[in-house]
Amino acid sequence: MGTSRNYQTEGIILKQSKLGEFDKIVTIYTPEFGKVRAVAKGACRPRSKLGGNVEPLTHSLMLLAKGRNLDILTQSQTINGFLTLKSDLWRMACGLYLLELIDSFTVEGGESRPLFDLLLDILNQLSEPDSNEIALRYFELHLLTCLGYRPQLRRCVDCDSPLKPTVNFFSPSKGGLLCPHCDSEENRRYEQIKVTSAKPSLPLSVQALKVLRLWQSCDYATSRRVKVKPELSRELERVLCEYIRYIVQRELKSLTWLKELRKESASL
Ligand SMILES: [Zn+2]
Repeated sequence: MGTSRNYQTEGIILKQSKLGEFDKIVTIYTPEFGKVRAVAKGACRPRSKLGGNVEPLTHSLMLLAKGRNLDILTQSQTINGFLTLKSDLWRMACGLYLLELIDSFTVEGGESRPLFDLLLDILNQLSEPDSNEIALRYFELHLLTCLGYRPQLRRCVDCDSPLKPTVNFFSPSKGGLLCPHCDSEENRRYEQIKVTSAKPSLPLSVQALKVLRLWQSCDYATSRRVKVKPELSRELERVLCEYIRYIVQRELKSLTWLKELRKESASL
């Protein structure tokens, strides 16, 4: 007891929930300490200095005190509240999707500079007026790489032969592509054990493969220069989101919301 220790860090608020009448629990993503959960005391009081600074999608400079269970957020100063991003429903949904991805993939603690920088970069990009879904796909691909799930896109994950420029098959459970031969073998094995519910793999066109390979190895500015037609965009989304769903074992809420928003805007 009495060993509390203060530390300062920048961080991005991933989510918040109420704790009792006046306090909040906030989940923060920081570059040096990874994911941190902390209590923001009195944040629900009307004139709290913390209140507005602990909303999700806020980049802040924070002062925390080590607690016995949860740390205590004592001060928070907003660096960027991403107001342009929050002023548009689609952009905000995109931002919240990035936050949910980080929250779903990470545990508390652990150094995390590359992922923090990626998150901050893509949130800034999404604030630009001409941003589009490429930002989400780029984020997903590089998040997977940062966390050790980099999809194998060069060689078949079963027979290790270099992939040919034809339709190959992405296997979420194997984390990469199967050549057509190995994919049909895999399907046969699935049929033998009568697994009908789980689709073992998804077809991936030559064009989609080219785009994924490029994005995997380039910076965001370069990735944006690729012209992606809606059909190709859906294909890339399907493959990456299916892989993510396999890893986290559930559908992300914010992704469902994003898809609903798209449907609504298409029907206007
Ligand atoms: Zn193969």
